[in-house]
Amino acid sequence: MAPEPQRATLLKLLNGYQVTQAIHVAAVLGIADVLQQGGRSADDLAGETGTDPRTLYRLLRALAAVGVFREEGDRTFALTPVGEKLIADRPGSLRDYAIFIGHESNWITWGSLLDGVRTGSNVFRQVYGKSVWEYRAARPELSALFTRATAQTKLAGSVLDICDFSGFGTIVDVGGGTGAMLAGILAAHPQAKGVLFDQPHVVANNRLSETGVADRCRAVGGDFFAGVPEGGDAYILRAVLHDWEDEDCVAILKSCRKAVSDTARLFLVERLVGPPNDDAETKFFDLTMLVNPGGRERTREEYGRLLEAAGFLPGPVAGPGPDRFYVFEATPDS
Ligand code: SAH
Repeated sequence: MAPEPQRATLLKLLNGYQVTQAIHVAAVLGIADVLQQGGRSADDLAGETGTDPRTLYRLLRALAAVGVFREEGDRTFALTPVGEKLIADRPGSLRDYAIFIGHESNWITWGSLLDGVRTGSNVFRQVYGKSVWEYRAARPELSALFTRATAQTKLAGSVLDICDFSGFGTIVDVGGGTGAMLAGILAAHPQAKGVLFDQPHVVANNRLSETGVADRCRAVGGDFFAGVPEGGDAYILRAVLHDWEDEDCVAILKSCRKAVSDTARLFLVERLVGPPNDDAETKFFDLTMLVNPGGRERTREEYGRLLEAAGFLPGPVAGPGPDRFYVFEATPDS
């Protein structure tokens, strides 16, 4: 009997979790960094990474079969263009994301997805008894890993491709993480000053000093439910609201509303849930939001309603940018 292609398709989807964890292990071991200099034998790589040579070979040949590495005979492996994205600290790298996504706190919570679907409530809280933010605040290394990893899922310049910030004096990035996006905007607009606002332990780890704009940018720690820095001409919230349920989103937006002057602008930068049967990336990020922070991805209309509920007039929506993010512009409703 001929094999049914539907079975092959379903089996590939079902076994996707194995690929995730295998790439995670290669990323943790830093295999791609070692392979930057050229092909190496599995024995060599095992020596460099303190792993069992025969087992490392099994890992690498599996990853070569899905295109992350290339097996060149003689148990030697080289990088493919896909595998190059696992090299650390390069523009476009996904290494921190690969380490984060296979981390136990993601792995275990995704393993309880069924509880989330049954109850409709945040899986992380069900598993760990606290919010993802409280959990990470007590684990500085994990928190820093998350901040770097989440920045890697976006392209630093994407927002600049679809939005013009040239008229703004002071730009406040609310929940700005590493500061990579703000640094990109400031680099493109030499007249502008920046304020990077995030939780105190997050801004303490900002990477502004690695950019050429540190002298024009202040880092401020705080809690956006309690308030955000005043005096900005533009306020940006990128991938912040998707972490929260509607009530919390409105509270965050109201904090921004209190801080903005009548002439300031608010920019929401988010993925959008689009039509049926398309854009698996956003629809699976939506499930990640259920599992981890306890938020959701939304449609254009849903974001419009949140803005209105917090006292903003929704304006034009630009996008998607190259990394699929859209930019909503809003003005304070007076
Ligand atoms: N804007 C960044 C980070 C998005 S992740 C980017 O696009 O990559 C969401 C951010 O919200 C995290 O950096 C997190 O530390 C921050 N955050 C969560 N709770 C917060 C709070 N109560 N006050 C301020 N920032 C908070």
